[in-house]
Amino acid sequence: MSGGLPPGRFFLPGPTEVDAEVLAAQVTAMYGHRTDACRAVLREVDEGLRPFFGTTRPVLIGTLSATGFMEAAVRSGTRASVLSVVNGAFSGRFAQIAERCGRSVERLDVPWGRAIDPEVLDRRLSRGGVDAVTVVHSETSTGALAPLAAIGEVVGRYPDVLLLVDSVTGVGATPVRAEDWGLDVVLTGSQKGLAMPPGLAFAAVSERLLERARDLPDRGYYLDLVRYVERADDAQTPTTPALTLLHAAREQAHRMRAETPDGRFARHRALADACASAVGRWRAGGMDVSVLAPVGERSPTVTCIELPPDRGGPEVVAGVRERGYVIGGGYGRLEQRTIRIGHMGDHSLEALAGVLEAVEAELHPGLRA
Ligand SMILES: *Cc1c(COP(=O)(O)O)cnc(C)c1O
Repeated sequence: MSGGLPPGRFFLPGPTEVDAEVLAAQVTAMYGHRTDACRAVLREVDEGLRPFFGTTRPVLIGTLSATGFMEAAVRSGTRASVLSVVNGAFSGRFAQIAERCGRSVERLDVPWGRAIDPEVLDRRLSRGGVDAVTVVHSETSTGALAPLAAIGEVVGRYPDVLLLVDSVTGVGATPVRAEDWGLDVVLTGSQKGLAMPPGLAFAAVSERLLERARDLPDRGYYLDLVRYVERADDAQTPTTPALTLLHAAREQAHRMRAETPDGRFARHRALADACASAVGRWRAGGMDVSVLAPVGERSPTVTCIELPPDRGGPEVVAGVRERGYVIGGGYGRLEQRTIRIGHMGDHSLEALAGVLEAVEAELHPGLRA
């Protein structure tokens, strides 16, 4: 249920549609958070999410939006010099956070819509002078998916370089293997690939990161990942968690377990493929549209579609809304040229077919009545 619309019509690339039962689970009487009852809820959320992070360690649970854990990753995981891979708005944000935290930041720019080539990253790291790399797994502003396993392998060749990953539109929808891939922080928010209400953030952190963090003088207090880990070992959070959101998260974690990680990953891949096929059909039919990210670099959760030159993003989004569906506009510098369909969380292929029909009708009114 979202924005007063019936289910299956809300395709914003975050927040995503939340199932009615998950929403209803938020209604709970208050109780103390330093209790076994709260420990039990936190433990269920943690354990339910571990397979989606590829970690055997506790998943950290924070009452903040994902950006809060991006800043925490910088403050607890970087010393002085950060290399930020920038291929869109959110990876640009990661660089900006590091700058505002006083780090010296070098941007490794990649064209918007493309993913970083791990060999390019390797060449830069081989010159030294970097203590951490920031990467966005699924760049929500462009629909590009980074080759995270290969990036992890490259960064793993440099023992003093930590890898900090924003997988806000990756976790829950596409494989993330924090331990196998050597991710020192991998974080997400509740309202994207996990299809929970906004307000919580989750992260897996490595032992290596904790060792470094303990020597960093300016980790702050609220964002200190060391405190999160110490509390998580006792199934607790450093400060009062958003209890109602935790109840929704627990309900959704159960639903995700029932679907299984592989089931979720396959469904998201099928949604992205259906979206790309539709754009291909429209193009074959003479419409000047294309998926921004090339084949092999496409996110399974968000498709960014380049519009014909005579159409503008905001106007198309408004037209699609008139037809009963919510989609995302282009983000940042892509606002006019593109639209984005967020197909993450619990969406079905049937619902996606509905929004695609609405977009097609809006872009090519002559084709359908
Ligand atoms: C939405 C998003 C964020 C920011 O999330 P908030 O929860 O709004 O802080 C960061 N990175 C990516 C890739 C996102 O899609």
